[in-house]
Amino acid sequence: MTGAAAYDDLRCSAKGCRATATTALLWNNPRLHDAERRKVWLACAEHAESLGAFLGVRGFLKERVPVAEIPAGAG
Ligand SMILES: [Zn+2]
Repeated sequence: MTGAAAYDDLRCSAKGCRATATTALLWNNPRLHDAERRKVWLACAEHAESLGAFLGVRGFLKERVPVAEIPAGAG
């Protein structure tokens, strides 16, 4: 099983949001994760910008992809 198929519940990660996610934010905290590790936050269209900005200002955001293109092994 690869990519988005591994996710049962493609809901937005924003607090209190129940919308279906369309965007996956791939991120890595170098203090916690190996360099190649990718954590995933799912975001709806409305929250993709704010969640991406939250990760971006911390230098954690690596990539922004459609949920159908989440790489295998990310999470
Ligand atoms: Zn949302």
